[in-house]
Amino acid sequence: QAKAQGKNCYALFDPDFHTRVVHRMQLEHELRQAIVHEQFTLYYQPVVNLSTGDITGFEALVRWKHPELGLVPPCDFIPIAEETGLIIGLSRWILRTACEQLQVWRQQFPTLSHLRMNVNLSVEQLNHQGFLSEVEQVLHQTGLDGQHLTLEITETMLISNTEAIIELINQLQSLNIRVAIDDFGTGYSSLSYLHRLPINSLKVDKSFTQQMHQDQINRDIVVTILTLTERLGLQAVAEGIETADQLALLKAMGCKQGQGYYFARPLPAHEIPPLLARGTISPES
Ligand code: C2E
Ligand code: MG
Ligand code: MG
Ligand code: MG
Repeated sequence: QAKAQGKNCYALFDPDFHTRVVHRMQLEHELRQAIVHEQFTLYYQPVVNLSTGDITGFEALVRWKHPELGLVPPCDFIPIAEETGLIIGLSRWILRTACEQLQVWRQQFPTLSHLRMNVNLSVEQLNHQGFLSEVEQVLHQTGLDGQHLTLEITETMLISNTEAIIELINQLQSLNIRVAIDDFGTGYSSLSYLHRLPINSLKVDKSFTQQMHQDQINRDIVVTILTLTERLGLQAVAEGIETADQLALLKAMGCKQGQGYYFARPLPAHEIPPLLARGTISPES
């Protein structure tokens, strides 16, 4: 299951079934408490222009500051939050916090007013009636123009309810909000309707970025995604860039934007201003 989530997951659960159920119930209980006691925090990973290293924005990534377990990664609690409906309240907090934070940095660094914030959506949010008006409200209350916000969805979210989601994305676009398809290439998107989706960018899944050097097929997949992106008039963002070689190859393939540990790991908010003071990340130094 952890593997299926495909993220930097470690197994939090004891394989024994009884223990697992008890643990799971306890985690669910703790998750409810965590929402009441605001034990969540957002980490921010810079998104950079691959040729200059200029920071173009951030992806907000949630963490749970568990009193005993420490920092719990999202793959260990987002699925539970989704199954229990807790995700709606949590996501509302995430969106608001990320937008407020971006506004603080944009005001603190006026020359970087173009900065954007990427926020991951959960499928539950897309099916939630109040979603659009909540987004509007957050923009209104934080004073953030929609053009500075990118919402990330995955291909799997598009499988069911495709028409309704296309309609929703259209409404987001009318607020100037951008929409990105996350982990592109790992889901089951039908290429036949990709051109009908009113989206702005595709994020090349980190599994392709990281396996490019192992075999030709992964290089071919990345080239294909980049070509497709260009043909559709979209932007490509490479995820999971960890080495200078991966960066060089992506640049040679024409990829213009990316994120990854090679530039910066997801960082707590207080570690971002020193990076913004320079505006650029040069991995070599
Ligand atoms: P994602 O949206 O694809 O986020 C990218 C993940 O890749 C993040 O893991 C990030 O820390 C990790 N990453 C970034 N650069 C590198 C790299 O160079 N190498 C490697 N190995 N990993 C890298 P994280 O933070 O554990 O998040 C995992 C997933 O959990 C996210 O995948 C996203 O699907 C979900 N998630 C995270 N935050 C939120 C949130 O606020 N709301 C929702 N609904 N889902 C979230
Ligand atoms: Mg994402
Ligand atoms: Mg994802
Ligand atoms: Mg991703």
